Amino acid sequence: MLRLITDFDGPIIDVSERYYRVYQFCLEKTRSPDQPVRQLSKAEFWKCKRAYVPEPQIAMLSGLDEVQAQEFAQLRRQTVHTLPYMVYDSLVPGAVDALEKVQQAGVDLVVMTMRRMLELEYAFNRHNLERFFPKNRCYCLNNDYVKTRDIDDKPLLMERAIAELPAASEVWMVGDTEADITAAKMHGVKVIAVLCGIRDRAQLERYEPDLILNNLSEAVDLVLRQHLPQVS
Ligand SMILES: [Mg+2]
Repeated sequence: MLRLITDFDGPIIDVSERYYRVYQFCLEKTRSPDQPVRQLSKAEFWKCKRAYVPEPQIAMLSGLDEVQAQEFAQLRRQTVHTLPYMVYDSLVPGAVDALEKVQQAGVDLVVMTMRRMLELEYAFNRHNLERFFPKNRCYCLNNDYVKTRDIDDKPLLMERAIAELPAASEVWMVGDTEADITAAKMHGVKVIAVLCGIRDRAQLERYEPDLILNNLSEAVDLVLRQHLPQVS
């Protein structure tokens, strides 16, 4: 059996608009009334995120001082994963086609995400994605889980998945961050990093994934191609 474990935000969902709206909100909330700030354009902002620029530094690039930058980062952390902002999430073009292809090929499809269950269910309903992921193929955080850092939390999810899921002859992981790459590599799972998410190529390369491809479609094509019996 061939298994594909996919991350959710990045390969399937584009969170850039949500993150940008939260950035705008936090900048506005944190600045003093008369303080001049320089709001980054969405392209500038997203480039920073993809280059893994820390939130306080993004705040300071936008004209906040050091103390404000900490407040900004804290407010941002409290806000970014709240449901009112999730309406800004959208499907990555081609992602649903890729999922359909995987499903039709009979691949065991698993989603592994740092979303809480409620946040995942919200997106499932909104984008009609539940059809791809039965409950026992969803690895997400409990609603009351206290997050530490994705790079620490995600390997724990992977550990659970490996313990619970039936054995597979071949397992691949697709994700868009260092947390995905680390989780996979810690557990001997082959990993494809995709460039359509929140990290750029330079950031992904630092963690040495097996492959770096543009998106989930390319990853699915590669995995299916490798798995097909060779015709001579
Ligand atoms: Mg992701």
